[in-house]
Amino acid sequence: MRIILLGPPGAGKGTQAKVIEDKHKAIQLSTGEILRAAVAAETELGLKAKDIMARGDLVPDDVMIGIVRDRLGEDDVKTGFILDGFPRTVAQAEALEGLLDELDMKLDAVVEIQVDEGILIGRIEKRATETDGGPRADDNVESLKKRLAVYREQTAPLITFYQGRGSLKSVDGMAAVDDVTREIEEVLGV
Ligand code: AMP
Repeated sequence: MRIILLGPPGAGKGTQAKVIEDKHKAIQLSTGEILRAAVAAETELGLKAKDIMARGDLVPDDVMIGIVRDRLGEDDVKTGFILDGFPRTVAQAEALEGLLDELDMKLDAVVEIQVDEGILIGRIEKRATETDGGPRADDNVESLKKRLAVYREQTAPLITFYQGRGSLKSVDGMAAVDDVTREIEEVLGV
């Protein structure tokens, strides 16, 4: 299985990616998690990304495309992957097409998790209280508002992009976690 999970912050991409990873032999590739690990380890990438992430902006496309290029080249990804948080811009989506061509890999689908924006702030506030090791630096209302605006401006155009490719499937992300998983499995036919 090779899929992309698309949706605003707090839609449940990470939660669903982990469930699908366990059930369907596909590796979760979360660019946000890769960046948070780099920030924690204070690597060059981490130092570059830290403030950008904390204020809810996007890390530059060339940096992100380089990370995903390296990751997709690793062996464990060969059985399948769930991209969670990438692509986030049309430029990233176009670069991903080139990378997948080079690797002779085809995407099965892009799954858009649809949610009402109104519930996202509550969800993120809840996640901030539940995250092991304390809340993420960007799980606060101010940063979330910025991340939502960035999503609307830069990431939502991917819905039309993938509709045009015939690969977009949409699911209702407002349902309970298990129901959302079932709907994703249904649209993927797995
Ligand atoms: P996430 O865990 O997916 O919500 O990502 C957390 C933060 O990491 C985002 O708000 C961005 O600052 C950064 N980030 C993650 N993925 C990307 C990406 N594909 N492009 C640019 N920035 C990203």
